[in-house]
Amino acid sequence: MSTFSLDPGPDQLAVRDWLHGFAADVMRPAAAEWDEREETPWPVIQEAAKIGIYSLDFYAQQYFDPSGVGIPIAMEELFWGDAGLGLAIVGTTLAAVAVLANGTDEQIGTWAPQMFGTPDDVKVAAFCSSEPDAGSDVSALRTRAVYDEAKDEWVLNGTKTWATNGGIAAVHVVVATVDPALGARGQASFVVPPGTPGLSQGQKFKKHGIRASHTAEVVLDGVRIPGSCLLGGKEKLDERLARAREGTKRSGGKNAAMATFEASRPAVGAQAIGIARAAYEVALDYAKTRVQFGRPIIDNQGVAFQLADMKTRIDAARLLVWRASWMAANNQPFTSAEGSMSKLYAGETAKFVTAQAMQILGGNGFTREYPVERMHRDSAIYTIFEGTSEIQRLVIARAVSGMPIR
Ligand SMILES: Cc1cc2nc3c(=O)[nH]c(=O)nc-3n(C[C@H](O)[C@H](O)[C@H](O)COP(=O)(O)OP(=O)(O)OC[C@H]3O[C@@H](n4cnc5c(N)ncnc54)[C@H](O)[C@@H]3O)c2cc1C
Repeated sequence: MSTFSLDPGPDQLAVRDWLHGFAADVMRPAAAEWDEREETPWPVIQEAAKIGIYSLDFYAQQYFDPSGVGIPIAMEELFWGDAGLGLAIVGTTLAAVAVLANGTDEQIGTWAPQMFGTPDDVKVAAFCSSEPDAGSDVSALRTRAVYDEAKDEWVLNGTKTWATNGGIAAVHVVVATVDPALGARGQASFVVPPGTPGLSQGQKFKKHGIRASHTAEVVLDGVRIPGSCLLGGKEKLDERLARAREGTKRSGGKNAAMATFEASRPAVGAQAIGIARAAYEVALDYAKTRVQFGRPIIDNQGVAFQLADMKTRIDAARLLVWRASWMAANNQPFTSAEGSMSKLYAGETAKFVTAQAMQILGGNGFTREYPVERMHRDSAIYTIFEGTSEIQRLVIARAVSGMPIR
């Protein structure tokens, strides 16, 4: 087990500085344009790929860093640059984590590289769990996966919604129900390879924030995929379903979608911290230079105390995220839902800090002349996706009480 340290060490600090340079020099100047265009920023993703920031190798290196803080440091820096562009760059990793969490070594080796493509031919990937009638309630998924034994193929039918990179991805990871009677325990994850007939993009959503990140419906109409595309393999699934039918608890009640979300919550919290830190810095700078009543507005305790609260909450959120990331990297169980705690607090902090930053900038904060209104819009998703704040509270409350709180 690596010792928990607040000093990430020289290697991590070098990575942080390198990412900071990319965030400051490439992402920030492009942020407003892609927010307005509301399109996937392929040139920015390509640039990230050319220098190795958009690559399986880079994320795997950070993911397996024994300190546990490689991923949160990377996320914070990129999202400090810009959240919409940040999500366009890292959206693929949610699908990659689904394969890492549920796939065999062979499946990881086959699919993870195809999710990123190459610097000359970049690709993105999508993780499709949510459905119109199954958001927070993951057990209500209706997308069906039926096994065609004669052909050793799975047939997928259903409609997914709000999928980041949905329809534009090379590889889609789809969570579907194999046995609806078993609820969440009857689900499995499947890889839909590039170009598979029957998968199409439905509606593309126009959004309040993170507008450079593509969000769309994914329609699955008789999609046939090889048996080998079931993540984890058929034998493991059959064992798991048999245990669930017997009603034993050995599967821990976990399902495929939840395994992915648990692993990614601290990383999502770190993204929120990046947005909050960016807005705080703009506000601090502004408060020192904006003069009203003959003195900088920061001379008023009313403003200075707002900044004190903003900074305190950001640092507290980062400590929660780093703790959860360190625990995950060192196989410490989240006995008090520490992953959920980190995502809950970081998401709420991003909303709080960006709102305060707009207030400190006054009229300027409300216009697109300054970036804080975009940061405020971007922050709002952090109390919604990857489990809403209410669902995080539910998970934490259940973990600490041992009660089936609803
Ligand atoms: C921009 C964007 C990107 C996304 N990307 C992806 C993606 O890549 N892949 C994917 O699968 N999904 C994705 N999602 C979906 C996202 O995870 C869901 O929107 C989220 O889980 C919430 O589900 P819902 O929208 O159906 O809300 P609902 O579940 O309908 O919730 C509505 C409200 O009710 C509250 N609520 C619900 N149940 C309870 C309860 N038991 N107790 C207390 N309050 C409750 C919620 O907290 C919320 O406030 C994305 C969504 C957005 C907007």
